[in-house]
Amino acid sequence: MIVNHASPVTHHPSPSFRALPPLSLYIHIPWCARKCPYCDFNSHEARGTVPEERYVAALNADLEQALPEVWGRRVHSVFFGGGTPSLFSAPAIDAILAAVRARIALAPDAEITLEANPGTVEAGKFRDFRAAGINRLSLGIQSFDPRHLKSLGRIHDGREARRAIEIALRNFENVNLDLMYGLPGQTVDEARADIEAALEFAPAHLSCYHLTIEPNTYFHRFPPKLPDDDTTAAMQDAIEARLAAAGYDHYETSAFSKTVSRQPVTIEARCRHNLNYWMFGDYLGIGAGAHSKLSFPGRIVREARIRHPERYLESAAGGDPIQERHDVRPEEIPFEFMMNALRLNAGFAAALFAERTGLPLTATLRELEDAERRGLIERDPVRIAPTLRGRRYLNDLLQLFLAPEKHVPHPVAEP
Ligand code: SF4
Repeated sequence: MIVNHASPVTHHPSPSFRALPPLSLYIHIPWCARKCPYCDFNSHEARGTVPEERYVAALNADLEQALPEVWGRRVHSVFFGGGTPSLFSAPAIDAILAAVRARIALAPDAEITLEANPGTVEAGKFRDFRAAGINRLSLGIQSFDPRHLKSLGRIHDGREARRAIEIALRNFENVNLDLMYGLPGQTVDEARADIEAALEFAPAHLSCYHLTIEPNTYFHRFPPKLPDDDTTAAMQDAIEARLAAAGYDHYETSAFSKTVSRQPVTIEARCRHNLNYWMFGDYLGIGAGAHSKLSFPGRIVREARIRHPERYLESAAGGDPIQERHDVRPEEIPFEFMMNALRLNAGFAAALFAERTGLPLTATLRELEDAERRGLIERDPVRIAPTLRGRRYLNDLLQLFLAPEKHVPHPVAEP
């Protein structure tokens, strides 16, 4: 059933686009071998085998019913996220991509990412993922330290993490490693050791996340003892300094990339899919609990699919997988844009605001002036960027752009 929230009448102008923003496709696979105690993603423990065939059919039906929303638009990146997409077989991923190609114009150089976890890695499977069209692999390593991996409830150990990276690098030029810091009982030296271990593999991309305790997680009910704020700040400084020294570009709050030459190709490794989110591009999300943000002449729409896998399977097969759909109120659009674009350390071109929101930059001039006065952003006629202070106090900066009576923002779709 769709809940439709119509926009209330406001004096704010409706968005008006010269051209619609670039479009990405997100495909959610909602199962994991085991649920991690810190995880608030829509992931469910796979008890026994996952219903792969039914889910592929449901994704096809979901995409089919979504087609009128993206008619004639080209998709520039595809991201299989989860959950653990690498739990699926290579033939299933191949079938999903074939169905996508049959229905949507996929750019010939589209970045196609698959998230994988070390506990699910087999050499033959990775080779077949590559043959199916996956050209970027994102590995959830989190740490190389067995003690910390255990405290995070991960099913792999340090040896399996290293083996997974070796297999990934044999099959993919473009590999991201996810790491976490601020782990229960972790010291600054241990966080440094994880970075050194990752650098041994010279990955094209690293994502370093600060462990946070989210509601509705095991850690929220039974909080572990985490390092204090000064210690995690020291970890963050150490990580940023070490990665800068190793030639990585810290281009987003948690993302670091390096142009890598792996013969015969040279890749510029910024994640194009995530950059599209951060630059307030459009995305269609299919699969259980996936979120979409789609622009149309005069409005921006957000959608969420039914979260629970079994209910999603039933409703997608019946042609109605949408749980909720609403127009973004025009007065909320500047905040939604800033919530994404101000995560980029180099900021954004001033013209991008009008391009992606359909609103003139003057719609948020007062807030920009306020942020500049407080030393949180710097701007000139062509570029707007967070200062170092703005990056460190990003939440304070974003608060300035909150519309009155703003309801809780939708999270940035999981990268
Ligand atoms: S593997 Fe990732 S998605 Fe799955 S439960 Fe753990 S953190 Fe969540």
